[in-house]
Parts: sequence; C-alpha cells; structure tokens
Amino acid sequence: MQIDEEYILQISSRFPKLSKTSKGSYSCRCGFCGDSKKPYKKSANFYPKGDTFNYICFRKDCNKRSSLKNVLKELEPELYGKYMEEMRNENHSSSFWDDYNRTQEAERMYRSLSTPHSFEDLRNNSKEWKERVWEAH
Ligand SMILES: [Zn+2]
Repeated sequence: MQIDEEYILQISSRFPKLSKTSKGSYSCRCGFCGDSKKPYKKSANFYPKGDTFNYICFRKDCNKRSSLKNVLKELEPELYGKYMEEMRNENHSSSFWDDYNRTQEAERMYRSLSTPHSFEDLRNNSKEWKERVWEAH
C-alpha cells in the first residue's frame, strides 16, 4: 500500500490537482480524458482496493477504470518496471505476482507462435484476458 502511494505521487504530474482525501483515496483531474473544462472539477480517483489502488474516472465519456498497475503500464512503462520490481522485493501477495508472470508467459508464447498478422489479434485478446484476470480479484 505504501509503495502504491509513492507511485501515485510519482505520476501526479499527469493527474492535476491530486490530493489525498480523508478516506485515504486520492482525488484528481483525469489524465486520460483531460477532465471537465471547469478547472476546479476533479472527476477521477485513486482508491484503495485490497492491497493496491484502483483508478476510476466518473466522466461518462471517459469512464476509465484501471488498476494502478495498469495505469503505470499505460503511461509510464519505465516506472511500471520499477514498480513490479519493488513489488517482487516486497514479497507481495503471490497471486498478484502469478498474474504478472502468467501474462508475460502468454505474451511470449503468442510472440513465438503467431504470424505478424494474427499477432495483433492475439495481443488484443490477451489484453482482454488480462482485464478479466484483474476483474476477478
Ligand atoms: Zn477521464
């Protein structure tokens, strides 16, 4: 949890007006849709979920929902690598780590088996699958 909060702060430049609420979540402007034209609006939130944080944007035309892990992966691949490394060092919950290994494994498999043309399709499928894995938690 501590590590997650450090990483939320590290990507705060992408999420204007980020601030911690009394409930322990972080409200901010959405870095994905740019949020409302009204500069004081904060439609997005990082909220604690289990032993990590999830991201949500409440704007109807955005409706972004993601784990902190995937937000990092999407926006800051380098930071994501560091994050996964720290999680491993922290001996984080094994299911979390298993998921990561499984998806890495699947990607390696797709890469070695697929022709370039079908690779994109498989990649999309694996992305969907990853999201389902996340939803199941
Ligand atoms: Zn948004």
